Amino acid sequence: GASTESYRRRHEITVTGDDVPQPFTSFESTGFPPEIIREVYSAGFSAPTPIQAQSWPVALQSRDIVAIAKTGSGKTLGYLIPGFIHLKRIRNNPQMGPTVLVLSPTRELATQIQDEAVKFGRSSRLSCTCLYGGAPKGPQLRDLDRGADIVVATPGRLNDILEMRRVSLRQVSYLVLDEADRMLDMGFEPQIRKIVKEVPARRQTLMYTATWPKEVRKIAADLLVNPVQVNIGNVDE
Ligand code: ADP
Ligand code: MG
Repeated sequence: GASTESYRRRHEITVTGDDVPQPFTSFESTGFPPEIIREVYSAGFSAPTPIQAQSWPVALQSRDIVAIAKTGSGKTLGYLIPGFIHLKRIRNNPQMGPTVLVLSPTRELATQIQDEAVKFGRSSRLSCTCLYGGAPKGPQLRDLDRGADIVVATPGRLNDILEMRRVSLRQVSYLVLDEADRMLDMGFEPQIRKIVKEVPARRQTLMYTATWPKEVRKIAADLLVNPVQVNIGNVDE
């Protein structure tokens, strides 16, 4: 309706895809469980950011997403909160492997995602493990053995652990490629493709990127099915 159009125009949101749902302009309108609403208010947030407002309703429909928005726009919770809700629906045994897998280019970014997952997922009693290089594998393997609903990983370390057969991705049904453009710039494409081969084809795939060059378009075309594309502001190719 008219208010959706004016919200999108005001926040420079453009969408492509079939029947894209209207944005959630307030936390109340998300229908998120009350414990999650409480967490966002206690973090001091007053409203969803534009990328959250437009990508949450799409993600909750279990659809694939490409989200293009610059750094600092709140993309992490854009995929984490629908991931929490997905986990509540699926209820796998985390001892058998993660249900939500987030790939991230660097240890620093992976750790930040893990911190947000722990903070906002605490009240939903979700477990999260972070895997990254430049640190001993032992503690990460012990964390995995305790069971993790969510794994946040850099592609290199996750591949090492997959080769050791110390984690299974057979239960993953919600796959996030965060900072996809940076992962490709860093040369992780072969690693990403190897990892995705271990994830069942019946899954939801969400790709977040700050820019939209042809390499990113190509991997999106290969890994996502009929995605909704959400852009905030000018798209930087
Ligand atoms: P991006 O991944 O797009 O670079 P982040 O997810 O790291 O952005 O978010 C940037 C900052 O904004 C973080 O400190 C995060 O906690 C905060 N943030 C996330 N959502 C909101 C919101 N709805 N309102 C205010 N701040 C938010
Ligand atoms: Mg980010």
